[in-house]
Amino acid sequence: MRQELETSYKLNIFIPLAISVIFIVFGLFFTVHLLQHQAIDKDKSVIVDKFYKALENELKHETEVIEHIIKHLSEQEEIKKLYLERDREELYKHLKSEYKYINSHLDITHLYFIDKNSSVFLRVHKKEKFGDKIDRFTFREARILEETFSGVEFGVLRNYTLRVVYPWKIDGKIIGYIEMGKEIDKIITFLSKQLDSEIYLFIQEEIYRDIENSFLQIGNYVIPYKTYELPTDVLKKVLKKVLKQEHYQFEIENRYFHPFSSPLYDSSQKELGFVLFLVDASFEHQILSFLMKFLFISGAFVVIIILSIGFWLIRKKEVEINRLANNLKNMAVKDELTTLFNRKCFNYQAPLELSEAKRDKKMISMLMVDIDYFKLYNDTYGHQAGDEVLKEVARTIKKVFQRSGDLSFRLGGEEFAILFKHLKHEDISIIAEKLRSSIEELQIEHKKNEISDFVTVSIGVATVNVDDDISIEKLYKFSDSVLYKSKTKGRNRVSFFNGVMEKELSKEPI
Ligand code: GH3
Ligand code: MG
Ligand code: MG
Repeated sequence: MRQELETSYKLNIFIPLAISVIFIVFGLFFTVHLLQHQAIDKDKSVIVDKFYKALENELKHETEVIEHIIKHLSEQEEIKKLYLERDREELYKHLKSEYKYINSHLDITHLYFIDKNSSVFLRVHKKEKFGDKIDRFTFREARILEETFSGVEFGVLRNYTLRVVYPWKIDGKIIGYIEMGKEIDKIITFLSKQLDSEIYLFIQEEIYRDIENSFLQIGNYVIPYKTYELPTDVLKKVLKKVLKQEHYQFEIENRYFHPFSSPLYDSSQKELGFVLFLVDASFEHQILSFLMKFLFISGAFVVIIILSIGFWLIRKKEVEINRLANNLKNMAVKDELTTLFNRKCFNYQAPLELSEAKRDKKMISMLMVDIDYFKLYNDTYGHQAGDEVLKEVARTIKKVFQRSGDLSFRLGGEEFAILFKHLKHEDISIIAEKLRSSIEELQIEHKKNEISDFVTVSIGVATVNVDDDISIEKLYKFSDSVLYKSKTKGRNRVSFFNGVMEKELSKEPI
């Protein structure tokens, strides 16, 4: 017989827990990823600062060196003499070897002797070109201020050059100007190595107008100088992203670059174009990728551990809750003396059993069982002994009706009910009789029982057929009425109610 009414509560918190844990771990993962990227990005602004500071320092240092050389040249009597005598040829011859030396050792690329009226007397670096007027910012400033002026400026040949212009004086009177210059390519190459960044100079196309050059041109920009050779299509893509100030990075030849740009000015603060920095973040990327792999694996590990522990704890709690809930439920639905279900449970459970039987297309029978002459038994053997009889009868009911679908109740006093689902009419007559005979066969002495020497029971059975439309109240009423019949016909017997015809059984089933 069915001993327990099982309840199964589920703590539906595992899935929310799993989602939260996965969210948190992967949230952390992406936060670290983002922070790491931001840190690399932050490096960019540091590099711009470093670049301009280092450029400034380099230029300052170079200016000092150039100033020193100019001064040295200007103080040579032979040079002074040849210039004042306007002997271009001899002056050139005299300076040729010296210029060659500073060109190869100090990368000096320009040396001018300029007249007071700003026309070029001699270009030592390009002897055949002279007589043209110089109208550059650095020159103008030196002329106006009457003192050495230097700055980075584009020359006629459109090369980005550091120029130092020195007003040449004798006895406080200006006799002309000496200008010396150095193309800053080499400085940029040096800085590129120092900053671990590749550098491209992008100069506005119009600055190069009318000048023949073989430089690469992209959009409105010309690239006169670069420290690295990117394929043109990659460079175009990089440029597009950089000019839109988009966050971008790319990998080429196993190097990770973070590109960004910064405007480029000459010494008159005229915007020439921009510098494209390709910051080499390969090392940082290597660390980041290692960190991400490590975080991913440890994150997955943490998720598995937390979820396994969570799952185990939840399951444990569920089992405990269900055990307590079922205990409480059984305490509420069971009769203490016999441990059969009580009347309250009958009222609740019987209608459910009836609908279940109808749904499963099964017959359901209700057996009403009442101990014969039980008052007399109590009177004869005492209430305590009566209780023992009740327990014995309940045990026998459980033994006979032991299928999982059978339900046994103590309705009150010495009255019991059994709900029994079955497929054939014969099943119920056999089992009802088995119960009656089993109780008598317990051979519990009952001297006052008029029809037997032992304790006996009377049984009334009402059956609901598959097609019957009947309520539990009616079923109760019918089984009660045939129980009464068993009593009036002499007790210790089973009576059946089949809706139309009543059959009676004495000790033998039909
Ligand atoms: P009948 O054959 O007509 O059923 O006669 P009966 O004496 O069994 O019926 P009646 O209804 O007159 O008496 C039922 C008795 O059951 C009365 C009461 O003393 C006894 N009884 C009810 N509950 C308990 C109980 O929990 N323990 C004991 N020991 N006796 C009980
Ligand atoms: Mg009774
Ligand atoms: Mg009775």
